[in-house]
Amino acid sequence: MTLSLIDGRTQLVGLIGWPVEHSLSPAMHNAAFEALGLNWRYVPLPVPPGQVEPAVRGLAALGFRGANVTVPHKRAVMSALNAIGPNARALGAVNTLVVGRDPDGKSVIGGYNTDDRGFVGALRQGGFEPEDGGNAVVVGAGGAARAVVFGLLWSGTGKIVVLNRTLERSQALVSDLGGRHGWSSRLRALPLAPETLVESTRAAALLVNATTVGMWPHVDGSVWPEGVPIPAHLTVFDLVYNPLETRFLRQARESGARAIDGLGMLVRQGALAFDLWTPVNDDLEIDEIAALMRAACERVLGR
Ligand code: NAP
Repeated sequence: MTLSLIDGRTQLVGLIGWPVEHSLSPAMHNAAFEALGLNWRYVPLPVPPGQVEPAVRGLAALGFRGANVTVPHKRAVMSALNAIGPNARALGAVNTLVVGRDPDGKSVIGGYNTDDRGFVGALRQGGFEPEDGGNAVVVGAGGAARAVVFGLLWSGTGKIVVLNRTLERSQALVSDLGGRHGWSSRLRALPLAPETLVESTRAAALLVNATTVGMWPHVDGSVWPEGVPIPAHLTVFDLVYNPLETRFLRQARESGARAIDGLGMLVRQGALAFDLWTPVNDDLEIDEIAALMRAACERVLGR
């Protein structure tokens, strides 16, 4: 099937970010629209810092059905919205906008975050059940790490150690999320160093890289120290998806640990956004949308 011609009924969504030209999102969403025969298009929307509020007003005025939001606007966009979902509020970040109408025809813009559920879904698909209550080690304390820790806490993971190069940032993450739902006893912040990392994984079932280490073009980087085997009982998840096979994941496979790449999370957070926008959600499983999106991403990444 090929994409239908753009006509007067074509529905639009897009990606608000700066920069956006290297994003996989247009390819994956347009592939899903095409496969499902939907007359929708997903377009890149480069929005410079400081311009996100007028961009969101413009989105509604132009009849867009929604958008994804990426760096650096995930927090700044919140002040431009009429409603914010509970997990987006807890994370202090929005990655999906849905434009609706009130009974008077006025646009109403809601903001959601699908990263935490995207991560947990990808983890389950990779064969790891967070509700089994094992402990986790998360490396990183940026926006992605926050979504990972939040998703793990909700889904029943035991204790979580958050290691970060800048200790204050992991302490802030632990203090923000620990203040909710009595979660503080399950969270601990430590500085990132080979010793703290190796020691923390002894009592863990899951190890997650939520830093930019190993990302293209610095593909030789890994958060795990060279020459030390990764414990084989661990499930290792790398959020980095470019390259798909990071040095960290190679270390995991070579040590006999289960390795899960970051593309599963990317396509799942996308599939969950797709599900919020489009009218096909009753008939179609997130798994099926994610599979279509994964195939499109692998084509772009050359696998
Ligand atoms: P971010 O907010 O900029 O955070 C970056 C994190 O990486 C911080 O914890 C930072 O530590 C750490 N870091 C950077 N360079 C480092 C180094 N040389 N050594 C140790 N730590 C280092 O970024 P983000 O939005 O959280 O994204 C993090 C990663 O997740 C990126 O690779 C991104 O592509 C990926 N991601 C993937 C998905 C997916 O769907 N698969 C979704 C979101 C993000 P400091 O605090 O010390 O600077």
